[in-house]
Amino acid sequence: MECVFCKIIAGELPSRKVYEDEKILAFHDINPVAPVHFLVVPKRHTKSLNYISDNDDVDHICYALRKIPEIAALLNVDDSGYRVIINVGEDGGQTVEHLHYHVIGGKKLGWGK
Ligand code: AMP
Ligand code: ZN
Repeated sequence: MECVFCKIIAGELPSRKVYEDEKILAFHDINPVAPVHFLVVPKRHTKSLNYISDNDDVDHICYALRKIPEIAALLNVDDSGYRVIINVGEDGGQTVEHLHYHVIGGKKLGWGK
């Protein structure tokens, strides 16, 4: 298994876990860009948003999105607000080829380019 996030999900690599259930794992990003920066990773491996194929893929990505407010509340950024990002492919800045949501917050965010 080459995928770093699959290894984290399997417990073969460490992570600073925020939340876990049978479908998703959320953990702090190792290189945070804001005071709060965690990743929400569907456990089912999908390479990127471009590779969503069947209804099970859709279920997992929708489930992960639906859970974000609850996970944000664990880190007290639900009321203050936060940003959810999916990077896709090379121009999108995707570096790990396992579909995931970035959730960033904990400060007033500017709009990047
Ligand atoms: P992306 O560039 O959208 O593919 O996002 C990948 C993110 O994963 C980056 O923000 C990295 O800092 C983060 N990352 C990579 N390896 C790890 C790791 N072992 N633990 C936590 N975060 C990681
Ligand atoms: Zn994977």
